[in-house]
Amino acid sequence: MVLLQISEPGQSPQPHQRKNAVGIDLGTTNSLVSVVRSGMPETIADQAGCHLLPSVVHYSTQGVDAVGQEALGFNVSDPLNTISSVKRLMGRGINDVLMLGDQLPYAFQQLDEGMPKIDTVHGLISPVQVSAEILRTLVNLAEQSLDVMLDGAVITVPAYFDEAQRQATKDAATLAGIKVLRLLNEPTAAAIAYGLDAEQEGIIAIYDLGGGTFDISILQLTRGVFEVLATGGDSALGGDDLDHAIAQWLRVQSGMNESLNPMEQRILLEAAKAAKEELTEIDHVNVAILEWEGSLTRSVMNGLIDDLVARTIRSCRRTMRDAGVSVDEIQNVVLVGGSTRSPLVRDKVSKFFGLQPMCSLDPDSVVALGAAIQADILVGNKSAGDMLLLDVIPLSLGIETMGGLTEKIIHRNATIPVSKAQEFTTFKDGQTAMVIHVLQGDRELVDDCRSLAKFELRGIPPMVAGAAKIRVTYQVDADGLLNVTARELTSNVESRIEVKPSYGLGETEITKMLQDSFSYARDDMQARALREQQVEADRMVEDLLTALAKDATSLLSEEEIQCLNLAIAELQKLRLETTEHRVLARKIEAVGKTSETFAARRMDASIKSALAGRSLEDIERG
Ligand code: ADP
Ligand code: MG
Repeated sequence: MVLLQISEPGQSPQPHQRKNAVGIDLGTTNSLVSVVRSGMPETIADQAGCHLLPSVVHYSTQGVDAVGQEALGFNVSDPLNTISSVKRLMGRGINDVLMLGDQLPYAFQQLDEGMPKIDTVHGLISPVQVSAEILRTLVNLAEQSLDVMLDGAVITVPAYFDEAQRQATKDAATLAGIKVLRLLNEPTAAAIAYGLDAEQEGIIAIYDLGGGTFDISILQLTRGVFEVLATGGDSALGGDDLDHAIAQWLRVQSGMNESLNPMEQRILLEAAKAAKEELTEIDHVNVAILEWEGSLTRSVMNGLIDDLVARTIRSCRRTMRDAGVSVDEIQNVVLVGGSTRSPLVRDKVSKFFGLQPMCSLDPDSVVALGAAIQADILVGNKSAGDMLLLDVIPLSLGIETMGGLTEKIIHRNATIPVSKAQEFTTFKDGQTAMVIHVLQGDRELVDDCRSLAKFELRGIPPMVAGAAKIRVTYQVDADGLLNVTARELTSNVESRIEVKPSYGLGETEITKMLQDSFSYARDDMQARALREQQVEADRMVEDLLTALAKDATSLLSEEEIQCLNLAIAELQKLRLETTEHRVLARKIEAVGKTSETFAARRMDASIKSALAGRSLEDIERG
């Protein structure tokens, strides 16, 4: 199955066939959409000229009442039904959500296994629904502004998002009626926006300080392929925390006492935020809060936020250690997120990395711009030469076959998306179910690979061993999600499962698994050959025992039975003891000879019994 329509080399689509795709940055605080027009990515603004959509949805008893800026207005008057920061809840369980406790004021309810729902006046709302509203708003904006229907979107997610969080994001897109061309890591999108993929090689740091979160990602670029070496950061540190520090100072200055009502708190925070943002441009602002009036200088503010910014730098140091990369190996630092406009942040970042960070693009938009560039390529608006090679499969994906062997279906370094199928058959007569064991790794034996998933194909019509045809398809989509389908071809019974191959496997583990597969290659081949013979031996023993149980007394003499039983016992013993596949192979051949006569007599007998008792007519009718 082809997942993406990618144009053939030299056959770039005609202008009238141009497809429309956008990039969406679905942020914790703000979201935005952008598109490539005349070869350049640009963000799409709403009628008021705003390109940042606050990631906020307000619910009334009727349902969705407002999205974005308008919804933000309900923050003070109706906080429990004004849902913001929903990205923090995506794909998370109740325990993760409870840990966020005091950061989010909502009432949560857990009904089933999945994400906890938010209790609003409109009933229980899932985080996926809230995200879908934001996505829908952005897509509508794009479709109206461009006056086209969209063919798809690239949606960005944090590099550390796990399978469940990515899946939740995809579900939100589906709910919003959007075709997801690809989920793209935010830091990768930022690097693409700066055209760093064209540099081919190098190590890049992406420093992303948004409203509520700080993310640092270390990417390695090899022949145009981005690889995440490490991610780190602080999910509870962002521009909002800077606002709190400043608000605290303002409270003391203005003589307000500590117990503020929510309204006063809001007013203080808004004033702090406004002052902070102004102090990015000028070094002195006047602040008025209720009856109080005063002023704040940039240097005083820097003193207030210094500790918080220093924390982000400590995070950077830790993450670089995880990545095994030293500061002087970093070739570029990209600034992302509104808070990186702050001069103190820029200062500290450039001091730490000893580099002038890349900041010529608007830090709010850079992720969405990169996503738009990627979307444009994925729908085929660029020739194949411009095709970005974004991701490869780090380790082969295989399936367990008889004897604990791994059969590789998709080989490592295949570029995604990719789809491969292979046919298998049943091992026993009348077998109606089959276990599909999905493995990751490049070693020959199942025990040396990593088990990703196991599922059963049931309802195979009973047939003799080897007659059923089971087609197993491995399909890795552009987001690295693996879909495995098993289908029995005569009956069309089907079973499927989705797994995320790289989930939980770090870079060092991948490297180790690969090294093992090289250094053990010879041993593994031996082991594979032995396992194959063991499977053959088991099959033979099984067949002979079944045959003996059925026909021994009628077809064989006592002596012949003893002789065969002895041969079987010897084979069983050798199968357990020998590590030499050739020895076992010879024994199998010998037992085969010993049982030849028995097999011949059974054949005769079965023909006779098939003919017995049937008239000539019956036989002719077949
Ligand atoms: P997110 O990725 O969490 O959605 P953004 O990247 O949109 O967040 O960043 C929002 C944060 O950027 C807010 O805390 C906001 O105050 C801050 N910010 C925006 N403009 C400026 C500015 N000029 N100076 C300092 N901080 C700013
Ligand atoms: Mg962001």
